[in-house]
This record gives sequence, structure tokens and C-alpha cells, in this order.
Amino acid sequence: MDRRRFVATTLALAFGCRSRASRDGTTRTTAEDGMTNEQRTALGPLDDVRPRARPAFGGHGFAPMPEPGPSDWLSAHPEPGQTFAEFVASSPNVPDAKRRALTMMPLGDFTDGVIAPELLRDWAGAFFAMPVRLLPSLSVDDAIAAGVRTRTNASTGKRQLRTGDVLMLLRRWLPADAFSLSAFTLEDLYPEESWNFVFGQASLRERVGVFSFARHDPAFFGAPPRAGGEGLQLRRALNVMAHETGHMFGLQHCIYFACLMNGSNHLAETDRRPFHACPVCLHKLARSIGFDVMERYRTIEAVLRRVGFVDEAQWTRARLAELGAAAK
Ligand SMILES: [Zn+2]
Ligand SMILES: [Zn+2]
Repeated sequence: MDRRRFVATTLALAFGCRSRASRDGTTRTTAEDGMTNEQRTALGPLDDVRPRARPAFGGHGFAPMPEPGPSDWLSAHPEPGQTFAEFVASSPNVPDAKRRALTMMPLGDFTDGVIAPELLRDWAGAFFAMPVRLLPSLSVDDAIAAGVRTRTNASTGKRQLRTGDVLMLLRRWLPADAFSLSAFTLEDLYPEESWNFVFGQASLRERVGVFSFARHDPAFFGAPPRAGGEGLQLRRALNVMAHETGHMFGLQHCIYFACLMNGSNHLAETDRRPFHACPVCLHKLARSIGFDVMERYRTIEAVLRRVGFVDEAQWTRARLAELGAAAK
């Protein structure tokens, strides 16, 4: 597969998103819905949303996307964004009566407990408001025996797994009732020989994705472990997992707000990325999944409190309080 086709058919998840000024040249507004014209246009009409839930799709409580720094995703990779209308026109995969569960598979050993697969499952269940099933883990040795190629990265001296080979296995093993199958691993990944590494790779169409937490750990680069480091790794894992799963619903990178679906060119940018979907991305997910927005926020808040992400839990509580007030 040539490079252009590779990029066109998959998303190399090493990359993320930048912020920028409104493309239509409008200045930020103080409109009642708290949105700029560009944001409102991207959101589209809310005809498919129950009137009671529509206040959840206003701009209040959502930060604008910051201007990108020189090394941030949008500076390196200008992207046009994906409006709600463009998302619908792309005919994304949607859960249906046959394929209604997210499935996830640990690739390699997660028994050290820093990133518990059960937490990834619970977070995905809350974020997407769908059933999530963990499949039995696959050892790296078994993956290699099944045809996954490896190499030793010249810069790090560490083993890497070839993403396309993992995706090939996942396509073969996709359960009949699965909307998607994601593999997550602590091994480093590469997509093809000419690339140094990728954080992961997901298909917008084929319901499969693989992503790595290896480079989330400062120890990967030889840094000594530091107090609280496990919490940072868990944050990155949960954030990346929801972002990459969002791609499997057909969501492209978001340029409209600070949003979980913003792209990321480096870890500092990933660490800035919020844990919530902006109104535009929430509209896309709500259309495909059909969840109750308030119920979803309640479940998300409970998981965030359980894992100790206080700021994100409080943001979610504030949304619920605002929506509760709006519903009265
Ligand atoms: Zn992405
Ligand atoms: Zn968004």
C-alpha cells in the first residue's frame, strides 16, 4: 500500500489536532447559545434531538480550541474539520441490532495494574453509553505466531509490532455482535518501515483499531519513575482509548472546541485534551448511538470519580446541573 493510500484509508494515530481561528472570519459571539457562527454551522440543526436534550448542545461550559503552537497537530497537519452534516454524509458505521457491543482485547501483559483493562472497559461503556466486552488477552508471542511482524526500533532499541498485521488479525476475529474490536498494548507500534512509530491506527470503516500506551510511560524514554506517574499513564490511556474509539464511529478530528476528538501531535497536546466531547462531536455520537445525554453524563461522572479524575468529574457535574436547570 503506498503512503497516500495508507493515510487515506486509515488514521495514523500518532497525530492529533490544532486549534485555530474561525474559518469564516467571524469573531467569537456572545450569542445565547454561547457559540460562534462557525461552531453553530458545524453543529447543524438539532431536529434529531429531543427538545428536552437540546440545551446539552449549546456552547456554554465548552472552551474554544486554543491557537495551535508550532509543534501542535494543526500546525503540522492542517485539517478542515468535519461538520455534523459532513459526518452524516460520510455514512459512518452505526451500532444496530446485530452489532451493538464494543469489544476490546488486551494485547500483551497488563497484570502490573497501572492500566487495568476493566477500567478501560468501564470508561468506554460510560463514554459511548454502550455495552463493552473484554475479550481474553492475546499474548505478544501468540500475536507473532499468528503473523504479526516485529522489528527493533533503531532509536529506542525496543521491539515494535506492525499495526497492519494486528488489524488483519482483528478483522478476522471481529465478533459477529461487535460494533468494533480494539486491541490495546504496552508494546510500541509502527505502521510501515518508513515510519518511526505510531501511537496507534484505527480504521474508520473496518471496525478495528490498535493503540499503544508504551510511549505514555516516561520510563519508555529512560526517565526514572516518579510519584503519581501511574495516574498520568491512566489518564492518557483512558483519553486515547475514547479518542481512537471515536474514530471508529467515523468521527474525524475536531477543530471547533477544546474536545476529546482534537488531534494530538505529542504527549503534551494529548495531556491538554479534555475528557469530554464538544457539542459538535456529542451531536455525532448521539445521532449514531441514540443515548440519553443526561444519563450518559451521570454514568461518566461516576466513572471519573471512581478513578479520581476530580476536575473532569466536576466539569460533568456542572453540565448536569446546568442541564437540570434548563429542563425545569
Ligand atoms: Zn485521532
Ligand atoms: Zn469536538
